[in-house]
Amino acid sequence: MDHLTCQSCGLPFTNEISGTNRDESENEDYCVHCFEHGEFVDQSLTLHGLEVKLVEMAEMHNEITREEAVIVIRELPYLKRWHMNIM
Ligand SMILES: [Zn+2]
Repeated sequence: MDHLTCQSCGLPFTNEISGTNRDESENEDYCVHCFEHGEFVDQSLTLHGLEVKLVEMAEMHNEITREEAVIVIRELPYLKRWHMNIM
């Protein structure tokens, strides 16, 4: 099974939860939580909003550890979705 990194939220994902293109084929750049049917699920999401969300995931829901959140947040500006915005 391939382990991919979502180019929007920065979290690892597998083909089972990969995003979908408009033609319902798999999109291996994004996870299904970020990208579905050829569009971003939350189009108004900003880089800052995402940072807040990741910290919340670590602190309130324990879905990821604080250390993981810090690493992911550091990598966010280099991901495809956000790379374009800062250029
Ligand atoms: Zn994602």
